[in-house]
Amino acid sequence: MPERIRAVRARVAAAAASAGRNADSVTLLAVSKGQPAPLIRAAAAAGLRDIGESYLGEALGKMEVLADLPLTWHFIGRLQANKTRQVAERFAWVHGLDRLKIAERLSAQRPYHAPALHVCIQVNLAGESTKGGVPPRDAPALAAAVAALPRLTLRGLMCIPPEETDRQRQREWFASLRGLEEALNADGLALDTLSMGMSGDFESAIEEGATLVRIGTALFGPRPEGPSPGTIPPP
Ligand SMILES: *Cc1c(COP(=O)(O)O)cnc(C)c1O
Repeated sequence: MPERIRAVRARVAAAAASAGRNADSVTLLAVSKGQPAPLIRAAAAAGLRDIGESYLGEALGKMEVLADLPLTWHFIGRLQANKTRQVAERFAWVHGLDRLKIAERLSAQRPYHAPALHVCIQVNLAGESTKGGVPPRDAPALAAAVAALPRLTLRGLMCIPPEETDRQRQREWFASLRGLEEALNADGLALDTLSMGMSGDFESAIEEGATLVRIGTALFGPRPEGPSPGTIPPP
């Protein structure tokens, strides 16, 4: 386990160096969905602090068992309206925001004593119906509305692009998310986060400016059977 973490850290550092970036500018988010709490404890002992979970019930159970650790919890799954309260109460970050209604609920339900909830808007770059996210053309309006909510801090954009093995094609998806973020900032927002890159493509994402990579399999090994990343479960 620590061996896998070392290897991923080395790959993050190498990708950052090849892009002329400091490795410290990339947050390694350990995606632990489907993995047991003791593996998260081992990851924390190796210095990982940011933990990503996709399923609320599973995450709440792990939070309870790991309450003694100084972890920052990120919700990276699909968020339904009836689950927003617990997410607003228990998580520090939400990636994958793609509806104003959900954002409004999170803002209203964020406890007054907690800092504002950090959020990223998910963009569906390829218009894939199996994945969440707003079409790129709808991102500016949603970003402006979310940025105005009092208890949320809009930090940036997130994507799960189509799976590509070709590095150049991987980079093109990530470059388009970066371009969208730059356009929003030119319009007056102050976004500082690009949540992009997973086990299969994080080096390309870092080369295109990712500030946070969400990595599961490369850190923890294969997950026990489950839906693939970002897939919307059938109704
Ligand atoms: C599962 C998941 C990841 C991690 O995927 P790996 O391929 O295991 O690294 C990243 N982001 C999201 C949104 C996920 O659901």
